[in-house]
Amino acid sequence: MQQTNIPMVDLKVQYLKLKREIDQAVSSVLDSGRFILGPQGEVFEEEIADFLGAKHTIGVASGTDALHLALVAAGIGPGDEVITTPFTFIATAEAIAYVGATPVFADIDSRTFNIDPQCVKRAITGQTRAVLPVHLFGQPAEITALRRLCEEHNLLLVEDCAQSCGAAYGKGMTGTWGDLGCFSFFPSKNLGCYGDGGLVCTNRDDLAATLRMLRHHGSSLPYHHSMLGYNSRLDEIQAAVLRVKLKYLDEFNRRRRENAHYYSLGLKDLDVAVPSENPSGIHIYNIYTILTADRQRLQEALTEAGIASAIYYPIPVHHQDFFRQFATGKSFPVSEQVSKQVLSLPLYPELTFEQIDRVVEVVGGALN
Ligand SMILES: *Cc1c(COP(=O)(O)O)cnc(C)c1O
Repeated sequence: MQQTNIPMVDLKVQYLKLKREIDQAVSSVLDSGRFILGPQGEVFEEEIADFLGAKHTIGVASGTDALHLALVAAGIGPGDEVITTPFTFIATAEAIAYVGATPVFADIDSRTFNIDPQCVKRAITGQTRAVLPVHLFGQPAEITALRRLCEEHNLLLVEDCAQSCGAAYGKGMTGTWGDLGCFSFFPSKNLGCYGDGGLVCTNRDDLAATLRMLRHHGSSLPYHHSMLGYNSRLDEIQAAVLRVKLKYLDEFNRRRRENAHYYSLGLKDLDVAVPSENPSGIHIYNIYTILTADRQRLQEALTEAGIASAIYYPIPVHHQDFFRQFATGKSFPVSEQVSKQVLSLPLYPELTFEQIDRVVEVVGGALN
């Protein structure tokens, strides 16, 4: 079979397009001699606050740290329960365990793969302190229903926006509906840097002030440490890269949506389920995921044709060794079912329609 070599993401083509601007941004940081907590980080925080429509933004060292520090700032700890989805990347649940709280899982909607507000409602107990939904694959979760539930039960709403930077639900960006929004700038995310990076946004002054101290050893005045803090800053080189890429984020996300829609058109008559979009939200397709009963056959055919594919995620969180203890005797049938059938196909802004045609052709051939 003809070798085409289509990767899941191609960070090199994007770099080559922006090379002049990125190289200049990076070398200006090298020239400045300031690498941690400097002007690039400050200006990036302002620019992304504008983009999101958030009052405060606090750059941190990764998306995992954004989630962890958000929960620390919110005062969540041992004895508290945090409701989240079992169908996500492990970091969402890890953050809950880091602060000593108990992750309580609530099942997902089979069409959007996002946490089901009805299941969240049933999981609320007297110990529940927060709900932590994920906007999975770039599709906003049912955030207004979740917010209403949180208001009714006096719970914090913390959003995992690692895959949804630039996605909106109604009039608000993901991250701005809750008390705290947590972002990742891991290279393959919609807004990615060239290393690790993350950010927390909030409209609450108290949480923002605490987060600024937490990321910097509990300090707001040099060598005065008023709380137990961490070393978790977004560095100047990453901030300078992100300032360049933020200008193009809407365009990147538009291209991702066009590519996703082109895939869905091509796949619509085949025996696979294409992603369904929540009409209240703008899905920005960090990942393009279909459901298929023939996953192994499809993956083999794609591999043979030089086309990458991936399984996000093959094992739900409550079946992971460390997290089983939080779900004894419980099952989450939708998460368990979709984890057996999901298959993610290559998708990035620079992917061409010709490449998508080729992927669709191979998928169609394998299903015949
Ligand atoms: C990527 C990701 C994270 C973690 O982000 P890092 O920057 O890699 O630490 C958390 N949650 C979800 C859903 C993710 O996809």
